[in-house]
Amino acid sequence: MRCPSDSSTLNSLPKMTSPIPQHEKRFSIAIIGGGIGGLSLAIGLHKRHIPFHLYEAAHAFAEVGAGVSFGPNSLRAMGLVHPVLLERYMEHVTYNATPSKRHTWFDYYAGMDSGLGKAEEHFHELTTGEGVLGMCCTHRAVFLDQLVSLVPSETVSFKKRAVGIEETSNGVRIIFEDGSEGSASAAVGCDGVKSNVRKWVLGKDDPASYPSFTGRYAYRSILPTDQAANLLGDEAARNSVMWIGKQGHILTIPIEKGELLNVVAYKPKKDGKWDDERWVLSRDRKHVEDDYADWGDSVKKIVSLMEKPDVWAIFDHPPAHTYYKGRTCLSGDAAHASTPHHGAGAGMAIEDAYIMASLLAEVEDEKGIEDAFRVFDFVRRPRTQRLVNSSRETGKLLDCEGEDIGEDREKWIAKMTESHRWIWEKNLEEDLEVAIGVLKGPKA
Ligand SMILES: Cc1cc2nc3c(=O)[nH]c(=O)nc-3n(C[C@H](O)[C@H](O)[C@H](O)COP(=O)(O)OP(=O)(O)OC[C@H]3O[C@@H](n4cnc5c(N)ncnc54)[C@H](O)[C@@H]3O)c2cc1C
Repeated sequence: MRCPSDSSTLNSLPKMTSPIPQHEKRFSIAIIGGGIGGLSLAIGLHKRHIPFHLYEAAHAFAEVGAGVSFGPNSLRAMGLVHPVLLERYMEHVTYNATPSKRHTWFDYYAGMDSGLGKAEEHFHELTTGEGVLGMCCTHRAVFLDQLVSLVPSETVSFKKRAVGIEETSNGVRIIFEDGSEGSASAAVGCDGVKSNVRKWVLGKDDPASYPSFTGRYAYRSILPTDQAANLLGDEAARNSVMWIGKQGHILTIPIEKGELLNVVAYKPKKDGKWDDERWVLSRDRKHVEDDYADWGDSVKKIVSLMEKPDVWAIFDHPPAHTYYKGRTCLSGDAAHASTPHHGAGAGMAIEDAYIMASLLAEVEDEKGIEDAFRVFDFVRRPRTQRLVNSSRETGKLLDCEGEDIGEDREKWIAKMTESHRWIWEKNLEEDLEVAIGVLKGPKA
C-alpha cells in the first residue's frame, strides 16, 4: 500500500503500548475519516493483522466539547473490537451518582405542565435491566484520546480530505483535496454525515447521497455539576435526566466523574428549514431563554447556567439503497447518520467496525474484499437503517409529538420502555456468525 510520505503524517502521537502483532494479510484498507467510527475500525483491523492507512481531513484528531453516552450494545462492541479499548474506556467512564441508579438510562421529569405530569413531576425511569450497565457517559475528547492511543501513529495521515475515488485494476485510488493520491486494495468511508465517499458509492445524482435537515436543533453546553446541584438538588443534577415538554426536551448527563454536566436542549425549528451552510453556531443564553420561556422552574434553572451554548442543526441521511460499490464501502455516520435521540449513533459506528474488521479477517486475499463488503451491507444495513427511522420517531415522542401518543402518559411510557430494547439487546457475535456463514456459503 502506498502511503503519502509528507510531513502531515502524525509522529507526535503516543506510541502504541499494547503488544499487537505484525500485519499478516496481503491486502490493505484505506480508512477515510478518523472520528469514532474510523478510529474504531483502525483498531479492529490492527488487532486482526490487516494492513490499513487512515486519512483524516483535519490537521489533528478532534471531537466536539461534549459528552457521548453508550448503551450496553456499544460497550459490548468496544470489547469485541479490542478488549483493551473497553478497558481504557471503563477507566474514564462516569456513571449516575446514585448507586441504585446504576442501571438507569434516564429518569424522565415533566419539564412543563402537560399530559405527562405537572412541571417537575418524575413520571418514568428507563432502565437497561440488571446485569448490564445503564447510562455510561464520557467526555468525547477523552474517549477520542483512548481510541488514538491504540492506533500506531505511522498509519495515520492528516490534512487529507478525500474528494474522489477511482477503481483501479487492483483496488482503489483516493484523490485528496491537496492534489495528492493514495491507493489501497479497498476503501472504507468513515467520513461522517457530510461524506464524500457516500457520493461515490450512491452516485452524486442520488438524493440519498446528501444529508437532510430533520427540522430540529440542539443547544449544547457543559456545566459545573456543583452549580447545577445547588439549583436542582443532587438527585436531578448528578444522574442522567430528561425534562420532557411540548415541542422540546432537555437532557442532562454527568461526565468527567461527575464534575461536569453535559446538557443538550432540543427544539423544533418552526419553518423546518436550515439555510446556513454552517451546522454549528455560537449562541448566547438569551436564545435559549426565549426558546424555553414557557417551561417549568427546573428547566429555567438549567438554562440560567448555559452561558455560551453552541446550537447544532440536526441532520440525518435518507435511506441508502446500498452501503458498498465495488471495493468501496461506507461505515458509521457516512452510511447511516441518524438523529441523536437514541444516543446510539457512535455505538453503531463501533458495531460496524467490529463486523467490518471481523469479516475482512475472514478474507484470504483482495479478491474476497467485495464479498466481505456485500455481506457487511447485508448484515448491517437493516439494523442501522432501523436506527435512523426509530431515532426520528423517538425525537417526536420526546417532544410530545409521537403519532397517536402525544402527551398520553400511559402510551408514552409504554413506547419509551420498548423503544431502546432492540438496540441494547443485540447479540453482535451471533450476527457475525450469520455473516461469516453467508460469506463462506455458496454464491447466489
Ligand atoms: C447532538 C448530538 C449528540 C449525540 N450524542 C450521541 C450519544 O450520546 N451517543 C452516541 O452513540 N452517539 C451520539 N451522537 C451521534 C454520534 O456523534 C455519531 O454517530 C458519531 O460521532 C459518528 O462517528 P463517525 O466516526 O462515523 O463520524 P464523524 O464523527 O463525523 O467523523 C468523521 C471524520 O471524518 C473526517 N472527514 C470528513 N470528511 C472527510 C473526507 N472527505 N476525507 C477525510 N476525512 C474526512 C472528519 O474530519 C471526522 O474526523 C450524537 C450526535 C449529535 C449531533
